[in-house]
Amino acid sequence: MDIPRLKKKHQDQLTWFARTDVGLQRPHNEDSYVDVPPLFAVCDGMGGHEAGEIASAIAIDTIVEQAPDTLDDEALGKAIEAANMAILTAVEQGVGKAGMGCTATAVMIIDEKMAVAHVGDSRCYLLRAGSLVRVTHDHSYVEELVDAGEITADEARTHPARSIITRALGSESDLYADHFTIDIEKGDRVILCSDGLNSMISDEFIEDLALTSPTPKECTDRLIAAALAAGGHDNVTVVVVDVERDVVAELHDRIFARGLRRGLVAVLGVLIVAAFALNFIISNSWFLGIDSGRVAIYHGINASFIGRDLYELVERTEVDVRKLPDATRKSLEEGIATASREEARSTVDSYVSQIVVENTKTAETADAAANAKPDTGAAESKDSAKPSSGGDTKGGDAS
Ligand code: CA
Repeated sequence: MDIPRLKKKHQDQLTWFARTDVGLQRPHNEDSYVDVPPLFAVCDGMGGHEAGEIASAIAIDTIVEQAPDTLDDEALGKAIEAANMAILTAVEQGVGKAGMGCTATAVMIIDEKMAVAHVGDSRCYLLRAGSLVRVTHDHSYVEELVDAGEITADEARTHPARSIITRALGSESDLYADHFTIDIEKGDRVILCSDGLNSMISDEFIEDLALTSPTPKECTDRLIAAALAAGGHDNVTVVVVDVERDVVAELHDRIFARGLRRGLVAVLGVLIVAAFALNFIISNSWFLGIDSGRVAIYHGINASFIGRDLYELVERTEVDVRKLPDATRKSLEEGIATASREEARSTVDSYVSQIVVENTKTAETADAAANAKPDTGAAESKDSAKPSSGGDTKGGDAS
């Protein structure tokens, strides 16, 4: 429905969803609604086929046409009264059927206020801070019984006379629409409905579904589904409007944020324990490696983490790795882990001893070779193997 005179800026604070369902027992749907912010309205038609739906459609058209530009509940009430006249006029002109009529519950939400006007038993509820309150007072026989304390609100729901409406559009020209304005807060959820909802499920159930549905669409769909599951005896129309921020979505977000926070704390805990463990391992680890061609003692583990070495050089010894066996040198290149600095030092000492032994051996071998070498030319060398009679070899001289 196009109503351009309703200012676009009023949509910014609202999210909404509306739907009507024929139900499970009625052959046609006599309900009508409008959901063009800041105006939302539900009309529940009566009078049978080609009457109820015509009455409710005329009412909605007239309310849209006559709704004020500003927040004015009296003017909104006048729009409903004009809708009543439009229905009576239509009957006079042969449109629809005599006796057709409807309820009308209309609200306009602008900034921090909601104007309400209504006739009949279609309802407006407000969900605020986790509690559902009914904003409108039904114009019905059972509501009068409730007011008189003769039955409870829940008994009214199933009372045999529950469909008797004491005030409706289409019955007489002298109709008065209740109207008032209430404050609206960020996070409020407004629900309009025809009695096809509240006659099928309790207000407690409506509250429960409204509280646990994150979005207006989900809320609308779940309320209608619940009415159908309860029997769907009547047409059911639901309009859900969230003001600025849906409280339930906020609650979901908070729960999610809490879960995320707990997750982060857990991850942080694991990282701290891992960091302590790593630090413990590093501070109790030593290894031998090579630095500038010398055997070196390192504190830490021979690895890097995100570009940082997990070790530090504590001592570069005088041991030249070229003097060590190939296998030892290879092991040093990869790092030889030791239990302590003392053990590392002791291994270095063993290398020194090893080199001394090797040097001694080499020297002895050289000496032996030198002693065995004759001091003559190549021609005599064949004889050098033979024992010298004089024993005056060059090697002998050298020694
Ligand atoms: Ca109805």
